[in-house]
Amino acid sequence: MEPESELMPSYVEVLVDCPGHTGLLTYRVPAGVAIAPGDILSVDFGARQVGAIAVRLTATPPPDLAPEQIREVAEAVSDSLFPPGYWALLERVADYYYTPLMTAIRVALPPGLLQRSQRRVRLLRSEMLDLKTLSVPARQIVQSLQGSATRDYAWSYIQQRVEGAAKGLRELKQLGWVEMTLQPPAHSTQPKRQQKVTLLNQDGEDLTPRQREILAVLAHNGGELWLQDLLKYGKTTAPTLQKIAQAGCVAITLEERLRLEERAVSRDRPLTLTADQQAALAAIRGLSGCATVLLHGVTGSGKTEVYLQAIAPILKQGKSALVLVPEIGLTPQLTDRFRARFGSRVRVYHSALSDGERYDTWRYLLNKEPQVVIGTRSAVFAPLPNLGAIVLDEEHDSGYKQEQPAPCYHARTVAGWRSQLSDCPLILGSATPSLETYTLHYPTPPTSGQGKGITSLDSPLVKGGGRAAMQDVRQRYYLSLPQRVQSRPLPPITVVDMRQELQNGNRSMFGQTLQKALREMKAQQQQGILFVQRRGHSTFVSCRSCGYVMDCPNCSVSLTYHHESPQRNPFLRCHYCNFIQQQPKDCPACTSPYFRFFGTGTQRVIETLNREFPELRLLRFDSDTTRRKGAHRDLLQQFAEGEADLLVGTQMLTKGIDLPQVQLVAVLAADGLLNLPDFRASERAVQTLLQVAGRAGRGETPGQVILQTYCPETPAIGAVQRYEFQACMDAELRLRAELNYPPYGQLISLRISGPEMETVEKAADRIAAVLKAAINRDSATVEVLGPAPANILRVAGRFRWQLLLKLPPNLEGNLHQWKLPIQEMHDCCNRHTRLTIDVDPLSLL
Ligand code: ADP
Ligand code: ZN
Ligand code: ZN
Repeated sequence: MEPESELMPSYVEVLVDCPGHTGLLTYRVPAGVAIAPGDILSVDFGARQVGAIAVRLTATPPPDLAPEQIREVAEAVSDSLFPPGYWALLERVADYYYTPLMTAIRVALPPGLLQRSQRRVRLLRSEMLDLKTLSVPARQIVQSLQGSATRDYAWSYIQQRVEGAAKGLRELKQLGWVEMTLQPPAHSTQPKRQQKVTLLNQDGEDLTPRQREILAVLAHNGGELWLQDLLKYGKTTAPTLQKIAQAGCVAITLEERLRLEERAVSRDRPLTLTADQQAALAAIRGLSGCATVLLHGVTGSGKTEVYLQAIAPILKQGKSALVLVPEIGLTPQLTDRFRARFGSRVRVYHSALSDGERYDTWRYLLNKEPQVVIGTRSAVFAPLPNLGAIVLDEEHDSGYKQEQPAPCYHARTVAGWRSQLSDCPLILGSATPSLETYTLHYPTPPTSGQGKGITSLDSPLVKGGGRAAMQDVRQRYYLSLPQRVQSRPLPPITVVDMRQELQNGNRSMFGQTLQKALREMKAQQQQGILFVQRRGHSTFVSCRSCGYVMDCPNCSVSLTYHHESPQRNPFLRCHYCNFIQQQPKDCPACTSPYFRFFGTGTQRVIETLNREFPELRLLRFDSDTTRRKGAHRDLLQQFAEGEADLLVGTQMLTKGIDLPQVQLVAVLAADGLLNLPDFRASERAVQTLLQVAGRAGRGETPGQVILQTYCPETPAIGAVQRYEFQACMDAELRLRAELNYPPYGQLISLRISGPEMETVEKAADRIAAVLKAAINRDSATVEVLGPAPANILRVAGRFRWQLLLKLPPNLEGNLHQWKLPIQEMHDCCNRHTRLTIDVDPLSLL
């Protein structure tokens, strides 16, 4: 190879932003233009120009293409939109989750970044420029930009006005006079520009005392303020400022004001840590490389304070930190605490921001300045160039998993890769860790009793049940905060047997204990939270007299109730393996006639409460009432200010709400949680119940928890009542081992959907056949379950079927040993049938 071509790769392989087109295309690199992987380009594609991303540079063209057939890159639009190492992360996401690279890029980048129409050219120089040396097109571009109030124009507009614009632009870019910027999609606004006032000279000669005062205000604020802020702080007017500018004392310039969500919060100081917090912090500060730690701290044990103090020195070292939270409802309180500590260095990044806000935040994050980014799962892709730590709070939360569109990634898995690529520690925090994380980090096979403080795992954990050793190079640590701050007790949990209530003739959804507690709460002017299990479309069948639940004999998940038409008898189905049986009339265990499907929505609970407890002021907190942006914050604020006695809501209540005045926490029916048709039901139930319970007694008084259920003897209920997390996980692990469910086996779910029932079913069958053949051919150890119709067969006019694969364990998110025959599987679908691959699915259809 000639040395020159090594220095200057002549070809670039790109991905074009064109739905349906997923392969790499080769283009020639124009002479004198430097292109690096990750740069955004514009290329000719058919008759159009489209946005593209440079993926790989090569010195030689592909063998099947003659060099003269290869077109030149039309333009390098923007570089360094990705921090170092980021590219490898996206490739990993694409590989692991079986999606085209372009799909992974789309989920990471702010929306619309690649769309062609958004390119703008901006003049970077504001001084007088000598245009004589420029070529004609370059000069024309500069002149036209000088005529723009914002010093920029859409590239398409310049192309229309200037002949040879592309050449002129290249010339100006080399001089560093202009830059090409990308704008968010057309419907949102351009970067917001505002007037900024900069102090030039405070001691002008002919200044009035009033003008001097204004300059003093400006000087006091670091010599630079937005014009509108200076008007406010200096109590002055725009004409006055203009006069000061004319006197040469300040410059008024138009500058981009990034649309970043900002809220003023009063600053606070680090708290004096408890001994447990201190030990955890010391361990975290001592971490090196990409170690991961599970910070297992009961609710209210002060995990957040540990995160804050762990992050402080990282910022001091000039590095940034990424803090991930599961749901946006959780961010207001947490964000405020981070802002109080770190001020304006805290940024939020999540998909509820407008496209413009996301775009601005993205570019802001690319700064080298140390910052703290707080965000939901997509923030795991925040382009922080110099990452010093990743915190993933409430790591067990299912909000970290993307269900659709592809890639169906889990932010925890991606965060693991990211910490490896950035060589920085990953801190996973939870009061109720997921089994996956727990098994990886807990030092010895779980036994009952509390954690044993700080421990390191030198060798991979190998448990009974034959789990293969992991190829795991990371250091893993388990840290525990077994007590609440100030040794506040965890609230006592009373379990109420609802079968007993029925026997005693109480057919209300509120047991005697709860009725009494609600009345006392009101009388003592306290506040409470009532948790109602979110009602899905599907329900299980159980006996209200003895608590018996219909389970699948093969899969150990509850059967779901289907009543599709008045003409058909109701039937029960396992949506893992497609086992079907008639709905029995009476309970098979005790012959009670109270054998029915189960479930109550928030709406009905509110109606009943209004009827039975008219004196209670209620606030509803579920997905219906919190849809609006900022609604979470507003509702919690109302509740915190005492505008209601009882907050009635679903799963959302379990998330990080820290309201010291909450005394009573009640769970209407724990059964709804325990019997979800999901092999994780029991793990989830324990997590949710402990989390809900943790909302009580966070203030001075201990509070109480009431847990109503039809099956109080279920081990999970007992474990929750005694706060025995470890024991519970231990029992659950044994069950998982028996059926080879995660963390013992890995699951991949294949979802097939389409407008016609029959074609979907056929495609599912063909895919199953293709898979079985491939498994045989490769002698892979993979089990195929199904195909089975989804629990909710039809959604938005599409029928849905599911196939489930069980593979050998892959806890670490290592690339798959055995690859799915992707192309063959897609070939089984027609134009209208869609196949979605969900690796490590969290909820099964
Ligand atoms: P977690 O995140 O573990 O649920 P938090 O960090 O929210 O717990 O802490 C619970 C409460 O205790 C918060 O109000 C917090 O301000 C307070 N807190 C945390 N650490 C300390 C400490 N060392 N001293 C006093 N109060 C603390
Ligand atoms: Zn029964
Ligand atoms: Zn089954």
